[in-house]
Amino acid sequence: MNTPPKIWLSSPHMGGEEIKYIHEAFEENWIAPLGPNVTNFEIELQNTLYTNKEVVALSSGTAAIHLALILLGVERDDYVLCQSMTFSASANPIIYQGAKPVFIDSEEETWNICPIALEEGIKHCIALGKKPKAIIAVHLYGMPYKHTEIKALSEKYDIPVVEDAAEALGSKYKDEHCGTLGDISILSFNGNKIITTSGGGALICNTKALKDEAVFLATQAKDDAPHYEHSRLGFNYRLSNISAGIGRGQLQVLDQRVRQKGDIYNYYADALIDLPGIQFLNPLSHTLNNHWLSTIIVDPKLSNGITREDIRLALNEENIESRPLWKPMHLQPFYKDELYFGGTVSAELFENGLCLPSDTKIESNDLQRIVGIIKGLFK
Ligand SMILES: *Cc1c(COP(=O)(O)O)cnc(C)c1O
Repeated sequence: MNTPPKIWLSSPHMGGEEIKYIHEAFEENWIAPLGPNVTNFEIELQNTLYTNKEVVALSSGTAAIHLALILLGVERDDYVLCQSMTFSASANPIIYQGAKPVFIDSEEETWNICPIALEEGIKHCIALGKKPKAIIAVHLYGMPYKHTEIKALSEKYDIPVVEDAAEALGSKYKDEHCGTLGDISILSFNGNKIITTSGGGALICNTKALKDEAVFLATQAKDDAPHYEHSRLGFNYRLSNISAGIGRGQLQVLDQRVRQKGDIYNYYADALIDLPGIQFLNPLSHTLNNHWLSTIIVDPKLSNGITREDIRLALNEENIESRPLWKPMHLQPFYKDELYFGGTVSAELFENGLCLPSDTKIESNDLQRIVGIIKGLFK
């Protein structure tokens, strides 16, 4: 028996123009370093985000978070508050800086950082005599976090927010684009994200001075001298001119990808909502979700014992990729000893949640097949 071709959770989907920008780079020998694609990618990204903020193209979202923490002065033994339910790359740069993560549970409406648990965490650190240096908040799966509430706490305690919008390019919170909501914001263009540069990221900040500092640090912190002189620790974190060319082509199809992701979500929601124990995270009225990944919660108490793992294995059997939701950082072996505030919201989401295939290259008969496999389990 032939295995059917693999269906991916979310794979790169080129628009067509990417190759043109790569050709230009080859013709002008702008293979390295930097070059016009990088400059233009930054400008085009600014336009995409409808912002006057400064954009710095970088080699990854992780690099962007690392630089954000450095720009905010995070140093050894400082506390940094971080949404627990996220990809590890949100939190790892805290450790790169020798600082201490304080993990915060999610709330149920957006699955993102819970304002109540966040304030508990802030107060705890202050009581220990050390006000946290930053709050890392994440828009999981394209669903904006509770920006109004988080910003209010940030202002009340004077702690800056690093907005991790790695999964949320194209999402909006009350007409403001995700990626412009933080004191410093970051994006990722990793291969599985809604658009990709094959690997890349961006940092979005408020002033030219901060941008200059980010670029300086991202290009090995070379002081102004004829030889290589370094008064600060540098990094090799800039995006290449070739990758930026891919990014320029990808930005042209971002709106199309957001529509396609929304169609995939709507298809699943219509087809599966009547199954007992299956729930969707409903978009909130004041937000636009890019639906990077379509997700469901499976409650075995209502689904006749069917679990998200049963669904994952049934899909896997047919060469279809699905994946549990992010495992919270406070439950990860590496982070098990760190401070944590909140209850069991994120733990339960991980227990019962599944990301369904959300590849924009997916055919409608594949979506039908996926829904058929899931419905088959409920027969
Ligand atoms: C992908 C991702 C990152 C890291 O981005 P890279 O470009 O892969 O380094 C950070 N945070 C979240 C929430 C992500 O999903």
